[in-house]
Amino acid sequence: MEKFAKPGEFCPNEACADYGKLQSSQQQNLQKFGKTRKGVQRYRCKTCWKTFTKTYGTIFYGKRTPEHEILETLALLAEGNRISTLSRVKGHKEDTILAWLRQAAQHAEQLEDVLMATFKVKRGQLDALWAYVQNKGEKKLP
Ligand SMILES: [Zn+2]
Repeated sequence: MEKFAKPGEFCPNEACADYGKLQSSQQQNLQKFGKTRKGVQRYRCKTCWKTFTKTYGTIFYGKRTPEHEILETLALLAEGNRISTLSRVKGHKEDTILAWLRQAAQHAEQLEDVLMATFKVKRGQLDALWAYVQNKGEKKLP
């Protein structure tokens, strides 16, 4: 099995020149950058200047679909798009999207920062999204 990179050991921004490079004595593009209100370590990449939390880049580690694509799909869900619509438009199976959503909900605190900062999702929309997962579809997305 491949060794899993630990949180904060690489830049998760795919557009970054130092994307995925593990930190070492020669490779030091990441710096600690405060903590979220929930106390999750935040990092900043000195190459692309993007900030991200400890778990960003690891939750979906090993998935075939790029993290950005998964997060964007989640953001569109939070904005009220139906899973069936997103499945059609983005070409992912509904089951796959649901699986991402369930995994994301387990890491809700860490993902909120990214979804709000990068994808401009509002807190209320996120709360509704997590509530939707908890109710396993009993409640409809707004
Ligand atoms: Zn970077």
